[in-house]
Amino acid sequence: MADATVEVNRDTCIVSGMCASLAPDIFDIDDDGTRLEILRPTVPPELMDDARSAEACCPVSAITVTIEEG
Ligand code: SF4
Repeated sequence: MADATVEVNRDTCIVSGMCASLAPDIFDIDDDGTRLEILRPTVPPELMDDARSAEACCPVSAITVTIEEG
């Protein structure tokens, strides 16, 4: 299975923390709770389900997961 990339629209993100709860290996919220960090912008196959869950559950649809071609 190909790797995927994950992107977040920071204009839309409300830093709810939902993605960090569902996919803690990919997303994290900084210590003061004001900024989302993307730990793994390239998502390996074993974390794909977590990435898809975060994409589906983001309350403002700010996450886009794209499968890399090739
Ligand atoms: S779930 Fe969506 S709104 Fe919440 S921190 Fe992640 S990207 Fe931002």
